[in-house]
Amino acid sequence: MVQKETAQAQSQRTLDAVQEMFETEGAITSREQLEQILEETLLPPNPRVRTGSLPNGLQYTILPNAVPAGRFEAHLQIMAGSADETEEQQGMAHMCEHVSYMGSRKRERLFGTSSQTNAQTGTHSAQRFLCSGVTHYLHRALTATLYS
Ligand SMILES: [Zn+2]
Repeated sequence: MVQKETAQAQSQRTLDAVQEMFETEGAITSREQLEQILEETLLPPNPRVRTGSLPNGLQYTILPNAVPAGRFEAHLQIMAGSADETEEQQGMAHMCEHVSYMGSRKRERLFGTSSQTNAQTGTHSAQRFLCSGVTHYLHRALTATLYS
């Protein structure tokens, strides 16, 4: 709860700084000045977050979370969506979601494991999501998410 209040206070400081920037004529005269304001007001990065890239270019972010114990979540975001379709292709991004993930056998292997999984396709990205209270299924879940 304390962290949430701190995050809200930091977000408010950022909004206040940006609002002041727009309301005060001539307040921001350089990109460096804007970057300094943003640096001073943005949330600091979480030191527990690990990020990287696999040899195939897949970028990942991992945040260990001990509470609740024995639980994991995985999210896959594909930076393509319906905005990338031509007029003749309308609906293809969403169809790909259903053919490649929602209807995949790898995803079906998660049924009955107490895992929850879903996917969605938007204008600029598509996401696959799953969570489970049984870490025993982590490999199966990641396989379904990444290789379906
Ligand atoms: Zn769908």
